[in-house]
Amino acid sequence: MSLSTWQQLYCPITAEEAAKLSPAEAIQHSLTKWRGLRQAVLDAHELRRSYCDVVDCGDSVDGGDSLSITGASCSLCAKYCDYSKDEPESCANCPLARLGASGTDCFVEYRRWRDYGDPEPMIALLEKALAERLVGRLGWLKTKGENVRVKIIAVNHDKPCHKCGGPWGTVETQGHAMVGSGMMSLAGTTAEGCLNDVKLDDDTAGTPNDKLCHAAGSERGAQKGQSK
Ligand SMILES: [Zn+2]
Repeated sequence: MSLSTWQQLYCPITAEEAAKLSPAEAIQHSLTKWRGLRQAVLDAHELRRSYCDVVDCGDSVDGGDSLSITGASCSLCAKYCDYSKDEPESCANCPLARLGASGTDCFVEYRRWRDYGDPEPMIALLEKALAERLVGRLGWLKTKGENVRVKIIAVNHDKPCHKCGGPWGTVETQGHAMVGSGMMSLAGTTAEGCLNDVKLDDDTAGTPNDKLCHAAGSERGAQKGQSK
């Protein structure tokens, strides 16, 4: 076990690559990385924290491989930070900024890990940002070959997806759906599952406040036609 085994699981793509993904996916990238900074995970991969660096236990920071947990490895800094401005104005567009303890950035949460090795405040902040981004959103869920219109109504962070580590939560079916050969009203039915399986509407646009980005009226056109 080493930094490279850790990276395969907790930081499989770079911050720059993740920054090109949707806002929710960029938050997820950071969340996965921060869950990997829990002491038990670092221990399992024979890693240790040295200030803001993660290094192989046998190596010094200068001598061996290391990963700096800074803005340079953060998908959200890559996506949102405006380096032409001074802190904390540079962070104004980041989904974490307003939710953090300072109200303007994530530095209070960040320093808890950098100075004390505790990643939980940052994990909680990222979970909050992800829930804010996801709850209330409409999208499509493919089940048994059919696309079903759903709305995300809850995120359960205690139980991330066992397959992809993504957010786990509850969706509510909207309107009708084709089940087997017929149309069935599934409105109000809820189901739990991996929220990465939900194809969100228009996931690249908007700000963290645009939770209900599509009016209910748009669902009608999206419903399936008559059964054949
Ligand atoms: Zn999943």
